[in-house]
Amino acid sequence: MEERIVANGLTRRDFLKATLAGTAVLAVSSAGIPSTAWAQRTSPFGIPPLPYAEDALAPVISARTVGFHYGKHHLGYLYILNDLVQSTPYEKMNLEEIVRATAGVSGKAPVFNAAAQVWNHTFYWNGMKAGGGGKPAGEIGKRIEKDFGSYENFRKEFVGAALGQFGSGWAWLATDGKALKVVKTPNAENPITRGLTPLLTIDVWEHAYYLDYQNRRKDFVEASLDRLVNWAFVEKSLPR
Ligand code: MN
Repeated sequence: MEERIVANGLTRRDFLKATLAGTAVLAVSSAGIPSTAWAQRTSPFGIPPLPYAEDALAPVISARTVGFHYGKHHLGYLYILNDLVQSTPYEKMNLEEIVRATAGVSGKAPVFNAAAQVWNHTFYWNGMKAGGGGKPAGEIGKRIEKDFGSYENFRKEFVGAALGQFGSGWAWLATDGKALKVVKTPNAENPITRGLTPLLTIDVWEHAYYLDYQNRRKDFVEASLDRLVNWAFVEKSLPR
């Protein structure tokens, strides 16, 4: 099962390797399994458990937000995806292949949205950790200074992208293989369909922050950057 869950690019970066143990890892959060109209299929795809406890990101992001976000939204996309791929060629693909195969394809938006949202959320959780954030050291710190001029410039640009994404979407740090870039994407879209390698994302759908911050998206994004970013994960995602 793991091979289907982990996309080509993801195995390269090994961030899921540690957390993926097959579909049996489907964790039921304290917010519970979503009660939905669609069948709650947990195969052929699965999602890894959260890489930390639901309350690990508090007080920046509360356990309640993480519980609903993972247990209702992320898991909800998984159920939709598993429903949609039943008896289709997508069953045999991995997640990243589905994202690439359905991006911008007429009639395939529901499959794309579900697959990309499953991918995006797993990536999001891995990019956060308790006690993270702030100006990074190491290779990623150097690359940020080189490509943005300073960490402060990067932070300003990232917050600007997160605020500039009208409606639902994602803010990303990504690379085209040479330069780091900040990009924003609407809805379920992901930089991999634009030929970029994602390094970090912050979910700016309202469900990611509304319980804790209501309309204050800026406060949510700034606090996440300052206190939660898992820079070791970001650095591991850098193409070698
Ligand atoms: Mn979300």
